[in-house]
Amino acid sequence: MLREDHNLIYSEEYISTLYRNKIPAFIAEYYRISVEDWYHLNKVKGTYKKCNRCGEQKLMNNTNFSLNKGSKDGFYSICKSCRKKKNKKQ
Ligand SMILES: [Zn+2]
Repeated sequence: MLREDHNLIYSEEYISTLYRNKIPAFIAEYYRISVEDWYHLNKVKGTYKKCNRCGEQKLMNNTNFSLNKGSKDGFYSICKSCRKKKNKKQ
């Protein structure tokens, strides 16, 4: 069906791996993010913070930003994933 509809050619093993591992992991991750967003916006009344490096709007919490006591909002201006990338380069 995939081949006919989308002209995609994947082996049966690839597709079954996709169904068994990738898709549940993707759904779980998506669900985790949406619950986190919901919780942050409705319960904690949190806000979004824009990363100065990648420019992405991310929830202002310690999952996305490292704590920085010296800054106004208590977090670094660069998100955790950008900070990781930066540290790898050095
Ligand atoms: Zn970033």
